Amino acid sequence: MSLNNVFAAQGTTVFTVMSALAVEHGAINLGQGFPDVDGPEDIRRAAAERLIEGPNQYPPMMGIPELRQAVARHNKRFYGLDYDWQSEIIVTSGATEALSDCIMALLNPGDEAIVLEPFYDCYLPQIEQTGATVKAVSLEPPDWTVPQDTLEAAFSERTKLVVLNSPMNPASKVFGREELAVIAGLLEKYDAYAVCDEVYEHLTFDGRRHVPLAALPGMRERCLRIGSAGKTFSLTGWKVGYISGPEALVNVVAKAHQFVTFTTCPALQYGVALGLEQEDGYFDALSSELEGKRDFLRQTLEGIGLPVLACEGTYFMTADIGRFGFNGSDYDFCRHITENAKVAAVPMSVFYHPASKSKPNTLVRFCFCKRDDVMAEAASRLNAFFG
Ligand code: PMP
Ligand code: GLN
Repeated sequence: MSLNNVFAAQGTTVFTVMSALAVEHGAINLGQGFPDVDGPEDIRRAAAERLIEGPNQYPPMMGIPELRQAVARHNKRFYGLDYDWQSEIIVTSGATEALSDCIMALLNPGDEAIVLEPFYDCYLPQIEQTGATVKAVSLEPPDWTVPQDTLEAAFSERTKLVVLNSPMNPASKVFGREELAVIAGLLEKYDAYAVCDEVYEHLTFDGRRHVPLAALPGMRERCLRIGSAGKTFSLTGWKVGYISGPEALVNVVAKAHQFVTFTTCPALQYGVALGLEQEDGYFDALSSELEGKRDFLRQTLEGIGLPVLACEGTYFMTADIGRFGFNGSDYDFCRHITENAKVAAVPMSVFYHPASKSKPNTLVRFCFCKRDDVMAEAASRLNAFFG
């Protein structure tokens, strides 16, 4: 008997594949995006104490009040956004669950959803599983500018939502107000919503500040804004996410959440609540530390003759192997350096729709959220291999 068409057709995610290959070959893993130093000890201690003291029973379905209040205060403090913590904020088991809940809550079969290529891997199956159709609009490297005409052409009366990921994985682009305003105009014109994946909201560089689409005029009512403790507190294994949105949308998103996970580990929620109250200095240090690692990786890659694209935010940098004289695909290159240079990366083409005409063959994503000594060792391996 045939199983679910969408999931039966999926391969294993590139992150899992490349991480396994890295382990197999003793390679430094600059593929899957996760830091190798755990986030603040006070956050982990707060969670650990709660875990021991309990209760460890089902917390409220929408999330513990302390965390929902902290998310509301965080929205106000960084973006001037007002959300009612009781009716407009939901805690989820990671941004992945949050995305799934929002997509399920908004889409019906026959609807259309627009995604901007290259896009994070879970968007496509999550959308297709609802019976809606994905329309992918490609941003063109090296600048990843939004092609306004193509974007507008992708809209129709059936467009229900746009998934907007800013700061953007894997393109490392931080959307500015002008481009956000174009998207906002189209959402209004076509009466559509946005699912805003903002997990890298605090990882922006060179003085850039993240602007949520929800902060633009008229957009609060159309946006579901998603954050994740994984990225903001370097605790990717915790899988604690949060959604902020207008009550009319959040009501239905909560219905999806109650049947997907129902709730999220209470002890971890206490830890994240404490985290969101950290002083500004914490958030500034997070991005400035990463910025230094980004610069180091850029020097390393340029030093071996690999040109890199601009990196405005996130954990990732894109290198172009086009003029590197490598005979093979981006995927072959990643395999090659994992097995031989002992440094792993991921191919960009996996972040494109299978039918995309814009799929690149020469772009490779490297992750730089690793300890300085690990980055230095990766550099010396790359230098030794290519130098
Ligand atoms: N969105 C993007 C763009 C991501 O890169 C990731 C993975 N880190 C997620 C969502 C998933 O976040 P979480 O681990 O909180 O589920
Ligand atoms: N978001 C991480 C990345 O882009 C991977 C998360 C995962 O493995 N699902 O590398």
